[in-house]
Formats: sequence, C-alpha cells, structure tokens
Amino acid sequence: MNYQYDLCIVGGGPAGYTAALHARRKGLSVVLFEKSEIGGVCLNRGCIPTKAIMHSAEFFDEIKSAASIGVCIKDAEVNLSAVIERKNQIVEKLRKGLALSLKNSGVLVINAEAKLKDKNTVVSNNEEFVGKKIIIATGSEPRTFKGMEFDHKNILSSDDVLNMTELPRSIAIVGSGAIGIEWARIFAAFGVEVSIIELAENLLPVADIEVSKRIERIFKSKKINIYKSVGVENIQSGDICKVNLNNGETVEAEKVLVAVGRKVLNYDKIDGVEYIGDICAEIQLAHYASKQAIEIVDGIKFDKTLVPSVVYGNPEIAWFGKREQDLEEGSYKKSNMLISALGKSHCDNSTEGFIKILSQDDKIVGAHVVSKEASALIQEILIAAQNGISAEKLKEVCFAHPTYSEGIFEVLFGL
Ligand SMILES: Cc1cc2nc3c(=O)[nH]c(=O)nc-3n(C[C@H](O)[C@H](O)[C@H](O)COP(=O)(O)OP(=O)(O)OC[C@H]3O[C@@H](n4cnc5c(N)ncnc54)[C@H](O)[C@@H]3O)c2cc1C
Repeated sequence: MNYQYDLCIVGGGPAGYTAALHARRKGLSVVLFEKSEIGGVCLNRGCIPTKAIMHSAEFFDEIKSAASIGVCIKDAEVNLSAVIERKNQIVEKLRKGLALSLKNSGVLVINAEAKLKDKNTVVSNNEEFVGKKIIIATGSEPRTFKGMEFDHKNILSSDDVLNMTELPRSIAIVGSGAIGIEWARIFAAFGVEVSIIELAENLLPVADIEVSKRIERIFKSKKINIYKSVGVENIQSGDICKVNLNNGETVEAEKVLVAVGRKVLNYDKIDGVEYIGDICAEIQLAHYASKQAIEIVDGIKFDKTLVPSVVYGNPEIAWFGKREQDLEEGSYKKSNMLISALGKSHCDNSTEGFIKILSQDDKIVGAHVVSKEASALIQEILIAAQNGISAEKLKEVCFAHPTYSEGIFEVLFGL
C-alpha cells in the first residue's frame, strides 16, 4: 500500500493533539483533521473555560469574607460580560498556542470533517488520505434525555452556560457529576439561587461516600437546595422553568442546566484502528485521553485503575483508586484527618475538608481529599501508590511546613 502518512488522526482534542505532537517527536509524518476548533471540548467548551469562570466566581466569593481576614473591600460586584470576555481571551490564547505548537512541530492540520473509510483510509473534502495507522479521537457531546431536551434558551447544556450574557436569579441543575457540581459552585458563588437534582442517593455518586456527604454539608452551608434520589420527569421551559420530579415535586428556576453526562455518536469499530479519548466512553477526562494517546504513540503504559479525578471549586475535591464503598468491611485500613488540624488551613482561611487514605496489606489503594490544593495533594499520594511505595516507606519523606501536604504525612501514621 502506498502510505501518504505514518499517522492520520481524526479529532483535535486532548487525545488527538497529544497523539499528533508525540508522534512528530518520534519523527512520524502526521495529518490531523479537526472539524471545529483545535483543542476540542477541553480547551473550548470544557476544562479550561469552566475553570476560568470558576476563578472569577471564587474570587468574588472570597471577597465577601474579606473583612474576616482584615481586608476591607467595598461594593464588589460581578460584571458577567467581563468574566466571559476574560474566559474567551484565555481560551483563544491557549488555542493559538496549541495551533502554533502543532504547526511548528510539523503536524499537518486540516480544518475539516473527516470520515473513516477503512483501516488505513480517511476521507475529507472528497479526498482520500492513506495512513499506516489511524486514530479516531472524535470526543463526545452533551447528553440529554426525553422530556429535558435543550432549547438553548432556558434549558441549557454545559456549552450554553459558558456564554451566558446575564446571571439568572435562580438555576436548577440536573445531575451532580463533576460538571453539575462545578456549575453549582460557580452559580452559588456569583449569588444565584441554586437547586441541584440527583437521581442517585448521594451527590457526586462517583466519589467516595464520605466525599459525597461532605459536599452535601458544604452545599447546605451555601444554601444550595438539594434534591436526591429523585428523577426528572420533564422540564417545562418558560420565563420560570418548571422541573417536574418523579416524586410529584416541582422545582422552579429561571434557567435549567442539564448535566447528565456526555454521549458519543454511534460508530462501527474497525479492527486495526485506534479509538481513544471520550469516544471510548470509558473515563471521560482530558488527562485520560492524553495518556491513552501517549500509550499508543510512545508505548508508555499506564494503570487505568489509578486515574485521578478532580472536581474544582472551593475546596477542591480529588481522588483516585478504591472508594470505601468498594471495599469489603475489615479488608482494609483507613486513616483520615480534618484539614482544620493544619496550621496552613487557618492561615488561608480554608479549613473545610479532609484527607483520607485507604490501604490494604500496607499498599495504598485509594485516596480521597477535600481541601484547598486537593488537585496537587492527590498527585503526591498517587505517585507513591503507582510506584508501590508503602505507607511505611512514605513516612521517611520529609514534608515541608506549613503545607497541606503535612496532612498526608499525618494520615500515614493512622494506617
Ligand atoms: C464542562 C466540562 C468540564 C470539563 N472539565 C474537565 C476537567 O476539569 N478535567 C478533565 O480532565 N476533563 C474535563 N472535562 C472532560 C474533557 O473535556 C474531555 O474528557 C476531553 O475533552 C476529551 O478529549 P477528546 O480528545 O477525547 O475529545 P474532545 O475534546 O471532545 O475532542 C474531539 C474533537 O474531535 C472533533 N471531531 C469530531 N468529529 C470529527 C470529525 N468527523 N472530523 C474532524 N473532527 C471531528 C471535535 O470537533 C472535537 O474538537 C470537561 C468536560 C466538560 C464538558
């Protein structure tokens, strides 16, 4: 066969662009097709824009309690257009940076839709591109269910909320996965009345049970209305939307965000073609997508049971590995401590949360952190777990003071 490229990639999100950049480092010839914007959901409609808006929301929230740390700020208010404009600028800057990296490294980017023809051929703009290997990394889209279809005016997807022009007085959020939880925190911090509706027994059902309970406590303290163990029958759109629940109750709000997961378009798998990222519907996280890309291109394997999850906001929530509810009683050890026991948390006015580590036979099998800087803390524990460093061995490490990491050190002594 006459190959034009070593690698053809469809989709320019974290999975696709990581594969492209790593393949070029190895000297392979690469063509990448992106039908929309380079960077995919993560950069344009996911991780980055939400965290940019989150930063504004949290900053505003912190200002509200500024007096308690001796700082006097008067008349703080939110200018949502400026918040969105800043978010747009961040996204654009990063997108341009990424496009430049791809160009400089010699990846041919074709801004067009591409379709897989066979295991070595991709068709785009009626042209055939033949590659030794093909990677499909076409990602996912917001999902909805019958009766709660997006109208993009009042019933919104996670894409729609990124470009709101004004804050609603109230919002109902259907689903308490990472996206629902993060937006609940953003809206509540901006002073919007938030109601969150979850089908499962607990908020953030993918998390450890203690984490879920802690989030519930935090949400209650922020006056977020919580509806658990209840499904949505349908949503009536209007100036005031009505979210009709299957227990007969109705939640009213100006806007509704439906955050009930992400769907992938149906596709027929072709043997020999690699499918990575959200399209696999395994773990729909950007770092999982890029690790899959590196695994394929560089052959660097990774343990899929040790993938960290982070939910952003104040405080952050992060975890990996086994949850307590996954383990048989008596088969594991658990140690935890409250973040309020750490001097640093008082200095930072951020005493909410805990660090919990689970072990079996002196092996760390899971960790669950609710704390400022949880996203960094989880990585420290994960590196130990991934490398089989036992809790005993980890005690030999000297942790700096005053830090949140000291909490990890303390927790080790309870295992
Ligand atoms: C609101 C929100 C917040 C999130 N926050 C986080 C977070 O904090 N951390 C985290 O790890 N993950 C987060 N995610 C998830 C993360 O964005 C995804 O896991 C990640 O983007 C998946 O990468 P991907 O490359 O598989 O697919 P995508 O990023 O979806 O990229 C796929 C690309 O393929 C293109 N494409 C599709 N079909 C074709 C075709 N036929 N031809 C050409 N191009 C095509 C699409 O236009 C798209 O650009 C978040 C998601 C959302 C929605």
